[in-house]
Amino acid sequence: MGVRTDFIWMDGAMVPWDQANVHVLTHTLHYGVGVFEGIRAYECTDGSSAVFRLNEHIERLLGSAKVMGMKVPFSHEQLAEACVETLKANKMTAGYIRPLIFIGSGEAMGVNPGPNPVRVAIAVWPWGAYLGAEALERGIRICTSSYTRHHVNVMMTKAKVAGNYVNSVLAKTEALADGYDEALLLDPTGYVAEGSGENVFIVKKGVIKTPPLTSILAGITRDSLITLAKELGYEVVEQLFTRDEVYMADEAFFSGTAAELTPIRELDRRVIGEGHAGPVAKALQAAFFKVVKGENPAYANWLRRYSL
Ligand code: PMP
Repeated sequence: MGVRTDFIWMDGAMVPWDQANVHVLTHTLHYGVGVFEGIRAYECTDGSSAVFRLNEHIERLLGSAKVMGMKVPFSHEQLAEACVETLKANKMTAGYIRPLIFIGSGEAMGVNPGPNPVRVAIAVWPWGAYLGAEALERGIRICTSSYTRHHVNVMMTKAKVAGNYVNSVLAKTEALADGYDEALLLDPTGYVAEGSGENVFIVKKGVIKTPPLTSILAGITRDSLITLAKELGYEVVEQLFTRDEVYMADEAFFSGTAAELTPIRELDRRVIGEGHAGPVAKALQAAFFKVVKGENPAYANWLRRYSL
């Protein structure tokens, strides 16, 4: 799917897409210290559009920058506004938003970022269902990765740092090469952690379980689904579990901005439950899509509305 649009926001200005370039000595390109977000905008049923939980994404972005010691030259509100402006400049009523805070070039090379400037870019592009439209209904086939998720004292796992994703790329490309759709990564003690770009949930006898926020990214979709599940009357527990518990679950699914709610129909060649989206996944998916399309007024504060 193409990512070419008209404009990319860079350091406070809207720049034509093919001029949004950086120097080859950009520090982030060498050492991976960049922090980013993935945010979605949806078309609402009333004809307007809405960015889903924009404030929470910007808060996490600035939190990631703080963890990495990056001094960001823009405020929360400036960055939030810039996301909306970039969608509008590209005439996009829906799509994916990618803010990236990175360390520029020109002052110093070496591990210490030193006096290089902290820069910000925001790109948008159209993005349908991350794991395929069919996956949202049929579910996907995944494998336990041979790669372990980061230890909390090796990488800052709650910060969404570019360099952390080397681990995700290894896991994802291995899974694809082996014929699976996605990887499930275990934490360094062997408990289930998350997908390469998703949080994970299982369901057993109507109880929903997801790993606690120990070594995983605090997913905003995860938080949204927990809130919606509780409102629908489900019991939700945040507790460590093992891969064999996933094999024996009635349902399993991934959550993420890109993946939305994607059911998992198989792990390591074991069919999970009925082998397709189960009733809990379907109920949560329906509730989630109602919210993002602006059909549930109780969650109006999760939407930053805009019109072209
Ligand atoms: N875990 C990882 C490793 C991710 O990259 C993502 C995607 N941002 C998630 C979980 C899900 O987070 P969110 O729901 O905020 O997109």
